[in-house]
Amino acid sequence: MAKEELECSFCGRKKAETNLLIAGLDAHICDRCIEQAHGIVVEEALHTTTTDLHKDVMLKKPKAIKEFLDDYVIGQEFTKKVMSVAVYNHYKRLLQPKSDDDIEIQKSNIVIVGQTGTGKTLIAKTIARMLNVPLAIVDATVLTEAGYVGEDVESILTRLLQAADYNLEKAQNGIVFIDEIDKIARKSDNPSITRDVSGEGVQQALLKLLEGTTVNVPPKGGRKHPDQKFIEVNTENILFIAGGAFDGIERHISKRLNMQAVGFSASKKENTLEKDHMLKYIIPKDLKDFGLIPEIIGRLPVLTYMNPLDKATLRAILTEPKNAIIKQYKKLFEMDGIDFVITTEALDFIVEQAIEYKLGARGLRSLCEAVLTDAMYELPGDDENKTLKVTKDYAEEKLQKTTIKKLKAVS
Ligand code: ADP
Repeated sequence: MAKEELECSFCGRKKAETNLLIAGLDAHICDRCIEQAHGIVVEEALHTTTTDLHKDVMLKKPKAIKEFLDDYVIGQEFTKKVMSVAVYNHYKRLLQPKSDDDIEIQKSNIVIVGQTGTGKTLIAKTIARMLNVPLAIVDATVLTEAGYVGEDVESILTRLLQAADYNLEKAQNGIVFIDEIDKIARKSDNPSITRDVSGEGVQQALLKLLEGTTVNVPPKGGRKHPDQKFIEVNTENILFIAGGAFDGIERHISKRLNMQAVGFSASKKENTLEKDHMLKYIIPKDLKDFGLIPEIIGRLPVLTYMNPLDKATLRAILTEPKNAIIKQYKKLFEMDGIDFVITTEALDFIVEQAIEYKLGARGLRSLCEAVLTDAMYELPGDDENKTLKVTKDYAEEKLQKTTIKKLKAVS
């Protein structure tokens, strides 16, 4: 075929009439047909009824789930155990054949209370990865009641659809992680808030999703695309995991514990000793006292907590998880044929810096980055130097060049 005769094998447009004509083995396709075909693919994906989907979500036993979590999440034994059971029960519920014994297994949505950076999101991500189900991570603070500026609650499901590549069936069996759920607590002790835009109204709207309902979801989200077709998403089988720091909730816990311990002076002393680990006594009532409405708490029946990260945990996070930060750097250097070693003292030093400047686990990466950037710049392509040994002195010297304040800002 002569060049000027090239045309799209699908619509027949001549090359000159197209923006792009891609050649295949015996055919050509133009940009417009590609777009149309993509539309069809998306539409098809929406309707694939993969009935075997549940079987796909291999029913791993709780112990196997916990073992998988152990590879990625350091410590947090209680939460890992509780969540393994909750996830197992959740998917058992989905697989349960419809029976007529009237026993309906309730959803095991989860709420995790714990300081930021203690691994709440990490656990949700790891579970989704293990189950190979889509995960949407949303921030409760951007949610508002319909009609207000911000995102409607339905946008959560738009994200989930996107995470599932618009496969409705997959999305309907996915996981939603709602971060900062504590930020939509009712601010009852703040009388100046006349209209509680981000508080109780959002909780009410969320309630429906958590309960299991059918929602009309704009697939592209937002109000920017008013002409889009809505997709009906049923939330009945979606596992919701909510997380939040609930700053100050310890006050509610200790108040409650003290009240219960009236007359027991010994237990009062114990309470002060345990101040740092108050969260382990958390019960749903504390969430209510904090400002979550009882209905929301009822829809998040599995309540668990994260421990603050101590020195030993931070140290382990650097080297132990399957994709630990240090392992990642080792691999990066390896790709340039560089043998990277870091001494125990240097690792301890990095952890001490993270603690001293309250950078948490997230700060570990920025600290490593600050220590290793020079080497990652200099060494590739340097045929003389094929080893990098990071000692405490080396780490200290590199960190002196960085303003820790800057690290603090990004962590
Ligand atoms: P949160 O959701 O509680 O704010 P993240 O899960 O986002 O915290 O944690 C931030 C980062 O810190 C994670 O990506 C991970 O690298 C690291 N991290 C935090 N806690 C742990 C942990 N227990 N085990 C392993 N890594 C952790």
